[in-house]
Order: sequence, then C-alpha cells, then structure tokens
Amino acid sequence: MPRADDTRRGLKSIISCEGFGLHGGAAVHLRFVPAAPGSGIVFRRTDLDATIPARHDFVADTRLCTVLADPRHPEARIGTVEHVMASLAGLGIDDVLIEVDGPEVPILDGSAAEFVFLLTCAGIAESEAPREVIEILRPVRIADGAAFAELRPAGPDAEGFALALDIDFPARAIGRQAFSLDLSPARFTEDLSRARTFTMKDEIDALHEAGLARGGSLANAVVVDGGRVLNPEGLRYPDEFVRHKLLDVVGDLALAGAPIIGRFVGARTGHRLNNLLLRALFADPANYRRFETTVPEFAAVA
Ligand SMILES: [Zn+2]
Repeated sequence: MPRADDTRRGLKSIISCEGFGLHGGAAVHLRFVPAAPGSGIVFRRTDLDATIPARHDFVADTRLCTVLADPRHPEARIGTVEHVMASLAGLGIDDVLIEVDGPEVPILDGSAAEFVFLLTCAGIAESEAPREVIEILRPVRIADGAAFAELRPAGPDAEGFALALDIDFPARAIGRQAFSLDLSPARFTEDLSRARTFTMKDEIDALHEAGLARGGSLANAVVVDGGRVLNPEGLRYPDEFVRHKLLDVVGDLALAGAPIIGRFVGARTGHRLNNLLLRALFADPANYRRFETTVPEFAAVA
C-alpha cells in the first residue's frame, strides 16, 4: 500500500466527534465530511471560514505538535494535525474535508485509535478515480546531531511504504526502542493506531507553568517519571513510545499530499525533522516522481 492499481478513497458519510485541544485546552468539534475524488485532504476552520490544505508547505510550527496555517491568513491555524493525518494515511484515505471549530484538532485519548474508529464507522468509499502517488527516486536525508530522517527508494520489488524508526530517551521507562512496519490499513490499525503520545512528568510541569498542555492529563498521554509510567492502566504496547513516534512520522509525512512509495528510516526524529524532510524531498524534482495509478476497468472506459 499504495499499490499500482489503487483507486482514490474517500468517506461514505459524515461523522463527528468532540474533545479538547491538548495545548490550548479548549473544547473543539471535529467533523469528517466526504469530499469529491481529487480534492485531497483539506482542513476547514468553521469559526473563521478559512480552509487550509493538509500539505507540508502549509506547516507553520513544529515545536510541540504540527501546526498548519495559511500564510495569507496566519491567524487561521490548526494545531496537532499529526494523529488525524496518520489515521487517514494509515487507512489509505485520499479525499476528505476535516472541519474544526477551534485552533486545535481534539487530542481524544492521545492516539489515533478514535479517529480510526470514526473513519471506519463513516465507511471508506472506493472511487473509480486513479490515485496520485509519490515515488522516491533517490535518498533524501535530514540530520540534526544524533537525530535523522531519511527517505529512500523502495527497491525493485516493493511498491508500498515501509518505515523503520529508532528512539533513545534518557528516561529508563523508555530507553532505546526500535519498530518497523510496512504501512497498510491492517498494520496501522493493529500496530500503531493505539499508541498514545507521551511526556515526561517534569516537562508537563514546565508546560503547565508556561500555559501550554492545558488539556494534557493521564487520560490523553502516557506520563513518564524516570523508570516509572504514572498511568495506572500501564502501557498499551510494551514499546508504545516508539510506536507513537512512528505514528507521528506517518502523520507528518502524510502532508506530502499523496501516498509515498519508498522507505523511511529515522532515529530520534520529531515533527521538525519530519517536515524538513518533506521540504528537502520536494526541493529537487530529481528526488521523486508523481504518477497516477492505472485502474484497469476505468482506464478501458476512459
Ligand atoms: Zn503524536
């Protein structure tokens, strides 16, 4: 996934949820609305009547989460887009309008599980339109100290998107972890979607003092204190931390605007490096090619 004979996928019906923004703490409604094949993924701030395409070149901030903004209307920002974007990429959804009535996507339980549930409930519609995909033609790498993020060609027999990530945190409850997978709706749902965002207890104290992470709690994040996980329910996966960081990579790279055919390899990467990687990829047309999948029956009609 994506495969050369894929068609574009959208939603069958409208579905919505409400929750709180992680950083601002405000209540926000989110609505997934079916969109015509070819529209792509677009966010809409219903309170400001502003639309922002879910694309890497609209990323305005990556310090705590990935924030999109229209440069012409910088007040129209939408923060914490990475988990909902990961859900759409994981399920292979190309076209949907995401309406929110505030500056942040709701954090829900800190993972992508509730978005996957909502999107599955709404129903995924296969269109007859060919799918645009982005094939990586040569390695592109961004490094910052021990952290790096790299896209590589998929190899002669591969036609999907494979990802591998290493993390290394001083907190003993996390330490070194590695995880890899070939992206597909089943693997994303089973292996990544339930992994929650996480934070260190002393960082959450500092964020609260700075007026950030106002919506943050043990209900929507794993909180680590040295060797201990403070959430009474414990972890959802033994290596939940690296799985969540890989979920973030899937979401951030979904801002390429189309499924990627290639491989991602990274270590200790975050929203900033993930976005710089896409900017470096698209800075040189020799790095990639865009093409449309061929749809056998549809191609015969057209
Ligand atoms: Zn995250």
